[in-house]
Amino acid sequence: MSGGLSLERLRRDGEAFMEELSREYYNAHAGLKASAELQPVYEKYRSILGRDALELTRETFLASAEGSEERRSARLLLDWQAESQSSRELAPLDEREIAWEGDAVVRLSDGRVIQYQRTAIELANSTDRAERAMIERARSALVEKELAPMKRERFQREREITESLELAKDYNDTWELLNGVSLNGLRDECAQFLRDTQAMWDEVFPDFLKRTLGMTPREATRADALALFRAREFDQYFPANEMDASIRRQVREMGIDPDAGGRVRFDVGEREGKRARAFCAPVRIPSEVYLVLRPHGGQTDWQTFLHELGHALHFAYMRPDHPMEFRWMGDNSVTEGYAMLFDHLMQDAGWLQRYTGLDKKTTPSYLRSAGFEELHFLRRYCAKLIYETHLYGGDVPWDALPDLYVEQLTAATTFQYARADAFVDVDPRYYAARYLRAWQLQSLITETLVERYDADWWRNPRAGPWVVQALFGEAQRELAQEQAQRIAGNTLSFGPLVRSIERMLG
Ligand SMILES: [Zn+2]
Repeated sequence: MSGGLSLERLRRDGEAFMEELSREYYNAHAGLKASAELQPVYEKYRSILGRDALELTRETFLASAEGSEERRSARLLLDWQAESQSSRELAPLDEREIAWEGDAVVRLSDGRVIQYQRTAIELANSTDRAERAMIERARSALVEKELAPMKRERFQREREITESLELAKDYNDTWELLNGVSLNGLRDECAQFLRDTQAMWDEVFPDFLKRTLGMTPREATRADALALFRAREFDQYFPANEMDASIRRQVREMGIDPDAGGRVRFDVGEREGKRARAFCAPVRIPSEVYLVLRPHGGQTDWQTFLHELGHALHFAYMRPDHPMEFRWMGDNSVTEGYAMLFDHLMQDAGWLQRYTGLDKKTTPSYLRSAGFEELHFLRRYCAKLIYETHLYGGDVPWDALPDLYVEQLTAATTFQYARADAFVDVDPRYYAARYLRAWQLQSLITETLVERYDADWWRNPRAGPWVVQALFGEAQRELAQEQAQRIAGNTLSFGPLVRSIERMLG
């Protein structure tokens, strides 16, 4: 028995807990409050986050029939509880890392001292490759000595805690059980994608590198990758003062109210203390959703605004009668898929010419560069996923992982990666798998929208209501692959992505 807990109470208090936590994050990250006070929230809801709650969800899961709606709900609640066990035990390690990241400084050989957190920005903004190499040497030495051991310990602990729950044989099997996704299957698809796009990559990479940074493939490191993708040659076509109005107009033209009747609240002005990275905070789902962006100017703002808008509209149009586990939990490949559905509008020639400053003459070179960037990120994420299955899988000794990381990431992207990042450049709990499947789902949804509502579906007033009803309304009840079957009668794959990259590279 589970100490007076019931599923009903777990859902009710669980939703209140998620709302309070989300409000803390929103207030802190939006700069409305100096810091997030998370511990009091965890303390207040202690009774639904302990071993009893885990046991209750485990019993419910085991008692439910495979393929039933009970099993679906129970799987999400058990995943939530299993993750809570880990997050709670890892909290001191996470706090230690956050404190380190806040304080650490990088001492350069020319005597300059820069904040560790600013190194990525400094690397991206530096137009001098010798300077980038100097920053990178100092950064990776510091990371290898101080941050990497902390991160490595964190992953070791996470694997131990998860395996000690004894839900399945090991970490990877537990993840598959709770997420309904085959890691081996996805890993094979990633390896195939890397092979299928190798010739295309070898053809386009040297050109872009030479034109943008004046370098050859043998010389380029990951520090140069940051500078390469920071290139601002198209920023002038994405004016800051038109972004909000232009994108809202487009959303209205496809038949969706961008404010969702006031449920989406836009917080896009400059404010001290606001986090640099844009985010969407669903504080109550679906009735109170914040889209927060601190403007930097240019193309990146448009892309992140679209991405976060996809999340915000998804949350704000979720059916309120869905149980909390479908609204707050579930396969994040789905919400990331909708976010990408919107940010990939930046790869649609018709959309670009109607809503941005690009015209018929400037669009092709912009699209070529967008296609190159897309190919790079997909290859990088495929290599990361393959590497991370070994990190979590336990088949490669911890000491051998840095060499494997360098080998996989360098082979996929040509940029020379550093051993120091083997435990730092990791998305915990296979978030890389969510992104990869979101990418696949996004491309399938786009193809479906084109078939149903034509190439300019994004201004077809019939398309929006369908998106709201068939996609957003369903919250995250379905897995990404179930949704792909339902709406497109198809399986998720990299096929449509390869086709779209080939089109862009022309
Ligand atoms: Zn996202």
